Amino acid sequence: MIVKQKKMDKSINYKINLKTIFASASSLGLSAIKTIRISGKESKKIFRLLTKKKNLKARYYNLVKLFDIKDSSIIDKAVVIWFPKPKTYTGEDMLEIHIHGGNAVLQHLTKNLLSIENVKEAEAGEFTKRAFSNNKMDFLEAEAVNDLINADTKFQKKLAIQQLEGTLSNVLNNWNKKIIKILAYYEGLIDFDESEVPKITEKKIFKQVSDLIDEINIYLLENKRGEIIRNGIEVVVIGKPNVGKSSLINQLLKRDVAIVSKISGTTRDIIESKFNLAGIPIILSDTAGLKKKIINSVEKKGILKAKTKIKRSNIKLLVLDIRKKIDDETLNLICDKTIVILNKIDLVKKKELINKINSLSKNYNNKIYSISAKKGSGIISLLENLENYIKLKYKDVFFGEPVLTKLRHRSYLKKCLFNLKKIKKNKQPELNAEDLRLSLNALESVTGKYNVEKLLDIVFKDFCVGK
Ligand code: GDP
Repeated sequence: MIVKQKKMDKSINYKINLKTIFASASSLGLSAIKTIRISGKESKKIFRLLTKKKNLKARYYNLVKLFDIKDSSIIDKAVVIWFPKPKTYTGEDMLEIHIHGGNAVLQHLTKNLLSIENVKEAEAGEFTKRAFSNNKMDFLEAEAVNDLINADTKFQKKLAIQQLEGTLSNVLNNWNKKIIKILAYYEGLIDFDESEVPKITEKKIFKQVSDLIDEINIYLLENKRGEIIRNGIEVVVIGKPNVGKSSLINQLLKRDVAIVSKISGTTRDIIESKFNLAGIPIILSDTAGLKKKIINSVEKKGILKAKTKIKRSNIKLLVLDIRKKIDDETLNLICDKTIVILNKIDLVKKKELINKINSLSKNYNNKIYSISAKKGSGIISLLENLENYIKLKYKDVFFGEPVLTKLRHRSYLKKCLFNLKKIKKNKQPELNAEDLRLSLNALESVTGKYNVEKLLDIVFKDFCVGK
């Protein structure tokens, strides 16, 4: 017996009165050329109105003049490419117009496009949303498009491309098939006489359930690999006041040509800087403000948050002033995630430095580096070692199999597992079938086959206009 999946009609809300959309697919501001993407039923009509031409060769660079629809003045001399459906990004008729990049040209064209009936400016992510509703991609692939646009580093890009290629979707679809097969068995028990159900023992079925549970568990236990690649390795700089934490951070950031953003952290006591270490995204947090006098309860709360952040970080850089005796409070900060940095080596003799390193390495297995944050010595070597340390420690993260990249994936998979674990031998088949259906629903919420309406906005809210 075959269990038919209830496929929701994803297109219900989309196909009725669907307007033709357009957007500049290039960023705002001055550029040599801008690409305007158009998708929808009116695409061909737009071409005819703007060019006064009738025929359009598909997938061909047409160099044409664009005319103002009302007064026939020239908007621009542009390249227009016509992509007839269904083999397009959105699955609808599409038109691409490559205009000169100035704002006046864009404004003139936009005004003309908006004057055409049933044409509107696209919302963020609307092109990809339509691609999804026309079955061009699933949720995971749609999310990957957005991740690819936002990828700053080599590994983020690799992860997004992997997901876009459907690697993760294949894994999930495979699980989906397995659950349906198991569900078919229980549905068979419900609907038919036992003699009519294929002779497969419940023991065998139960083994399939437990294998599937193990398989899904592996993905959930993978140490948040995808999230690390997507968001970055959290490195936090800690130490007593005046040991040189801020000076070290300045040195680290100065050497990195690819600082992507400098943002305020969750509290005013912690500043985060994102940078790219040989393709690895790093979020460097400065805790310099932590030791300042606490004035009010808001600040107290902030400090508590910052402390949690330190606890959760992937790597701690503990900065010590080489001239100072290390107190117990500081020594207690050393754990297996700590890299010890002896700073201000310009202020001591070489012998003193060697003695300090020796005494520390006697008691701790941690890596110890010596630098002068003021003079800049030892920083390049520290960065190289940090890179190697991360690559070794997070080997599986950067060089492994497809991974879950979002909390959303993780929480639905947990739900799927929760319900799978409820499948029991000697339980009524109706109840087992219900639990299987629940786990199937959870799984399909990841790829977007289930409960589409509810999930659409969550998935597409981060998109940029033009995608
Ligand atoms: P933080 O409170 O830990 O962030 O420390 P700062 O980075 O603000 O540094 C405190 C003081 O130590 C400043 O006057 C720095 O110029 C100085 N300092 C930092 N690193 C070094 C170093 O390697 N050598 C010397 N001689 N002074 C340093």
